[in-house]
Amino acid sequence: MMAGMIHEIAADQYEKEVLGGGKVVLDFYSTECPPCEALASKYEGLARIYGEDVRFLKIFRQGNRALAEALGVGSSPTLLFYDGGKRLEGQLSGGIRRSQIAERLEQMLPPVRAQELRKRVTPVVTDCDTLILGGGPAGLTAGIYLAQAHMKTVIVDTALPGGFVATTHQVSNYPGFPDPLNGYMLSHFMSEQAKKAGVVFRAAADVAALDLERKTVLLDGYETVRARTVILATGSTPRPLGIPGENEHRGRGISYCATCDAKFFEGKDVVVIGGGNSAVEESLFIARFARRLTVVHQFAQLQANKEAQKQAFDNPRIDFLFEHEPRAFVRHAAMDMEVTVENLRDHSRRALRANGVFVFVGFIPNVLPFNGELHRDAAGYIVTDEKMRTSLPGVYAVGDVRSKPYRQITTATADGTIAAIAISQELA
Ligand SMILES: Cc1cc2nc3c(=O)[nH]c(=O)nc-3n(C[C@H](O)[C@H](O)[C@H](O)COP(=O)(O)OP(=O)(O)OC[C@H]3O[C@@H](n4cnc5c(N)ncnc54)[C@H](O)[C@@H]3O)c2cc1C
Repeated sequence: MMAGMIHEIAADQYEKEVLGGGKVVLDFYSTECPPCEALASKYEGLARIYGEDVRFLKIFRQGNRALAEALGVGSSPTLLFYDGGKRLEGQLSGGIRRSQIAERLEQMLPPVRAQELRKRVTPVVTDCDTLILGGGPAGLTAGIYLAQAHMKTVIVDTALPGGFVATTHQVSNYPGFPDPLNGYMLSHFMSEQAKKAGVVFRAAADVAALDLERKTVLLDGYETVRARTVILATGSTPRPLGIPGENEHRGRGISYCATCDAKFFEGKDVVVIGGGNSAVEESLFIARFARRLTVVHQFAQLQANKEAQKQAFDNPRIDFLFEHEPRAFVRHAAMDMEVTVENLRDHSRRALRANGVFVFVGFIPNVLPFNGELHRDAAGYIVTDEKMRTSLPGVYAVGDVRSKPYRQITTATADGTIAAIAISQELA
């Protein structure tokens, strides 16, 4: 095998090729697997750099299922690392970043050699008409329109493309699908459409040194993407409470979107965390479905506008637990959640049992890496005009990261459409 090449093995070669000694990285891949496609070029690039010292192998998971199961590999891609016939701690799977693999490989090498090999990384420059940061519905839609208009378009995502939709259990309000659609499938269709249109993807990328004036960004430490226009489509993230059980049960008992999930709580009991405008307005919406809502709020009064407050107080289905804060979530079964709340006056705790929990303590726009001279609103969202143009020439913002009243898939795709058409005209 030539240094730097990736060698494909089958299960019956595992003992000899992997356990036979030396330093080895083994990639369990599958076909029709977007994260595997995202990994392929990174794996090849790293094989060219580290391939003299570490053997790069790959194995088709579906065709070698028994071995995969025996090694505890349950998803593709999964990278396993070996030294001297021994499997090393830790494996990588899902949307794997180039830097994660490089770090693991370097841990297997003497530091001096690792440093020497790092110098072999050669910088690359990729030119394009439009660089889109964020591959959620807003960025993907802009990409589809631009690529179809023959604009060279690169979509960069720090994760795998799809955005929030990819993690949404069911989407029932996106036009064109009479039955609720699995969010992952909707985002997959959008990504495939963008790929077919000719969009170039850089998925699970390390994004650094974003220069909005020059319209350049550094990816994975070696690739500079240089563009004529930039679209910021990085979305927003629900502000987490940061308490035990929240991460584990996100999307499985804990929701951050009433428009999306309230309908699943017809005749059920629900706990709502928060007391600002969105918490109260969303509670009024949830109350159309739920039998009973308990709003848990840290202050003695609601922070929402007076009209929303009045409607909430008048609603017989809504109860309030003021001066209480959630401390932990436990999921006993599907539709059976327990919320531990603390009374902020006497610090006593008690458990609330409900079918589901909604958390509305705000969203945070994903703007950190490009904290520049962009005009932003008081909450940090990027302000645009109606063509999605920001305060910086040639820089657009679309979707949830933009300052706007309603954040849904349809409003994100609409923003993406508008920006793409405006850019097509600008660059014509
Ligand atoms: C739990 C939940 C359920 C929802 N359900 C529905 C629903 O049923 N129907 C509906 O219409 N709406 C729903 N929404 C709202 C909807 O998901 C959003 O409005 C929509 O996804 C916004 O699209 P976007 O492309 O602007 O952002 P996102 O979907 O958030 O995508 C942003 C993308 O940018 C990437 N990114 C972040 N930072 C960077 C960076 N620095 N560089 C590069 N990439 C970056 C992220 O990885 C992500 O892929 C839901 C929201 C939540 C939170």
